[in-house]
Amino acid sequence: MKIINLLIVLCLCACNTNKEKVEPVDNFTDSISLEPCATIFLQPYEDFSQKEAEILGNKVLKKLNKLYYGYWSIKVLPSRPLPIKAYYKPRHRYLANVLLKDLPNRSSPIYIIGLTHKDISFKIHNTSNYGIMGLTPLGKNKSIVSDFRAKGDDFVAVIVHEFGHVFFGLRHCLDTNCIMCDYQKHKGKPFNFNLCKEHEGIR
Ligand SMILES: [Zn+2]
Ligand SMILES: [Zn+2]
Repeated sequence: MKIINLLIVLCLCACNTNKEKVEPVDNFTDSISLEPCATIFLQPYEDFSQKEAEILGNKVLKKLNKLYYGYWSIKVLPSRPLPIKAYYKPRHRYLANVLLKDLPNRSSPIYIIGLTHKDISFKIHNTSNYGIMGLTPLGKNKSIVSDFRAKGDDFVAVIVHEFGHVFFGLRHCLDTNCIMCDYQKHKGKPFNFNLCKEHEGIR
């Protein structure tokens, strides 16, 4: 059977070489779009400097390229003051849902991520004011993230995790080796830039 298939392939190749007109290769390369799948806008808040946002953006791009198929570009927006109404004085935190509302609305496929050094919180896990690392509302193309609880590569992982929610609609995973694992399940362990078998199929 394999020999027959091989003969058919060889026959087709031979037929192609006999054609008078062969499509030029340039026609194929012209049809490949080099436009990004999406532009990711980083919106630094207050003391989160533009330089910090640029360095962070480059690290995020490297990890996105490692985990997912696609092409994204990152742009850093001018810094923005933290809205006073987001401040929660009793815990010296900023309310993540209020910050999300403050982020400018961008139409898809543009994705905007607010960056802050401040502690952010949300009503979750049966607690009215729970300290979190990042939040993305379902079906929205915006996130707010804070490096108050996640430093260095862990903070990069928080952004890559939120990206998975926005672009691929990925849900939380029980596998602590998967980037889509809920932060709470890590219990202080460093994040891994991996996708579990189930999530690998969706990317
Ligand atoms: Zn999540
Ligand atoms: Zn997973």
